[in-house]
Amino acid sequence: MKINILTIFPGMFEPLKESMLGRAIDKGILEISVVDIRDYTKDKHNRVDDTPYGGGAGMVMQVQPIIDAYRGSGFGGDVIYMSPRGELLTGGLARELSQKDEITILCGHYEGVDQRALDMLEAREVSIGDYVLTGGELPAMVLIDTVARFLEGVLSSEESVMNESVYSGLLEYPQYSKPREFEGMEVPEVLLSGNHKEIDRWRWEESLRITSERRPDLMKEYLDKPHDLTRKERAVLDKYKP
Ligand code: SAM
Repeated sequence: MKINILTIFPGMFEPLKESMLGRAIDKGILEISVVDIRDYTKDKHNRVDDTPYGGGAGMVMQVQPIIDAYRGSGFGGDVIYMSPRGELLTGGLARELSQKDEITILCGHYEGVDQRALDMLEAREVSIGDYVLTGGELPAMVLIDTVARFLEGVLSSEESVMNESVYSGLLEYPQYSKPREFEGMEVPEVLLSGNHKEIDRWRWEESLRITSERRPDLMKEYLDKPHDLTRKERAVLDKYKP
């Protein structure tokens, strides 16, 4: 998949070269291209922003450098504008975007970008949450990271995105690793039993407990879905019904 980025801070995307995304890039699963919008400004002082028409606080990113950067870079695919007023980024949206061959992400700054740039690019606005950041670069990295997890070959073969919190419909159970005892705190006995049926049941119950405590909205959706359960499992699930 090709992910293009239009930004005025290209250096902020250096962290993408690390860790799992870095490996996905090395393996050719993911191709990231970053273009500096400032390289396309026609302003003699290299500016890409100006005051808003109609007055008001702050500056607005101008339409000309954005459109010229988009055209000059040869970027294609759907254009995503990272924006606090956009639709909320969810696992469903990440999965949908991961099925595209190419997307182009526009990162805003200051008070945002001239509306004409968004209209001309037919940009889809996407928010990472109901809070405001200083720029679109961190939101773009959040989007890229979660989209990349759906690309084949990014996670190792035994990992599956669908087993993780939220995607499975429940939040994840607690995880433990060595040592077996740390400063008097023991790993739950069942995880040492080697009985995989018991371990799966314990994990499922812990997921139910954590989800009902922390995310009643997800729990309700889970309970509303049909489940193929044994009598014992049904009795466990019934404990969480309102
Ligand atoms: N004045 C804008 C508003 O009220 O909607 C906020 C502009 S914000 C200070 C600057 C840039 O940061 C935005 O153009 C956007 O690209 C990015 N940004 C800030 N918060 C974001 C969020 N929650 N999700 C996605 N992008 C965000």
